[in-house]
Amino acid sequence: MDWLLTPGPVRLHPKALEALSRPQLHHRTEPAREAFLRARGLLREAFRTEGEVLILTGSGTLAMEALVKNLFAPGERVLVPVYGKFSERFYEIALEAGLEAHRLDYPYGRVPRPEDVAKEGYAGLLLVHSETSTGALVDLPALARAFKEQNPEGLVGADMVTSLLVREVALEAMGVDAAASGSQKGLMCPPGLGFVALSPRALERLRPRGYYLDLARELKAQREGESAWTPAINLVLAVAAVLEEVLPRLAHHLALKAWQNALLYGVGEERGLRAVPEEKSPAVAAFYLPEGVPYARVKEAFAQRGAVIAGGQGPLKGRIFRLSLMGAYDRYEALGVAALFREVLDEILPAS
Ligand code: PLP
Repeated sequence: MDWLLTPGPVRLHPKALEALSRPQLHHRTEPAREAFLRARGLLREAFRTEGEVLILTGSGTLAMEALVKNLFAPGERVLVPVYGKFSERFYEIALEAGLEAHRLDYPYGRVPRPEDVAKEGYAGLLLVHSETSTGALVDLPALARAFKEQNPEGLVGADMVTSLLVREVALEAMGVDAAASGSQKGLMCPPGLGFVALSPRALERLRPRGYYLDLARELKAQREGESAWTPAINLVLAVAAVLEEVLPRLAHHLALKAWQNALLYGVGEERGLRAVPEEKSPAVAAFYLPEGVPYARVKEAFAQRGAVIAGGQGPLKGRIFRLSLMGAYDRYEALGVAALFREVLDEILPAS
């Protein structure tokens, strides 16, 4: 079986595998309601919010769209810094939702500064916390603060798809009103669930629209342990099982993620590879390809060792490669991957 070193989906946590092997539950029964409520409670803890977390059947993009469409009305002005593929997606979703979206462009790998978003006249700011396409992490609290000083009524929406359970997140404390995430990244579960976390302030400002995406209808059902439509209940069980394991030792887990990613950057940088992001997210290590080495060669060298890696997206396609240890749950696996990475570099780099 291939070792997934991709930034999602990632290797499954053993607790997820165990939960997935249980017999099918019917979603309108007591055990399913209990599991749904438990998963929602644990997710609230993971997002560190006093508000609510809604579990949607779909991927992270669905959660991003649900967030945008339920918090902003057509015609409202939102500010969207674009510094990678997923912030580009937030911008596209905002346009499709009929918002007056203003983009601020950055070269991929760079991140927005607080002074860039300190602009008046906006109903919202949309940010990607961990920009998986470049490996960059933004300073959410500083950006949210700068924006809200100019727009006290404004709402900050964040994509936390590859920061949840990978890096500290705390909705209200970070000045974030709503966040989107998914099951197949830091939660080490299969793809198939999207999460929308809503702070108390966002809950007061819900303006539901859409049918499947109507979060007010979901909220009503989910407060009772149900969902409006048939949920991927097996995945909900897996998410609850992983959170029960990880949350009691979250600080240790996050420290491990930071250590693992620094290990990968250390191996690459000691052999002269150049990191893509200016501020590094612990979710993924992204490197420019060494001079004269095509991506296919790097991918093949990992594949020969049973590992799957990721390339670049958008303008970085064919220019970078990315490795992620989001699916590694102990130090020893990370050390094994670091050794494998060294072997690959020995093979593809000219001897110095
Ligand atoms: N946002 C970020 C930061 C991501 O890394 C991803 C997936 O890679 C997404 C959004 C989209 O999630 P999905 O592919 O689950 O729709």
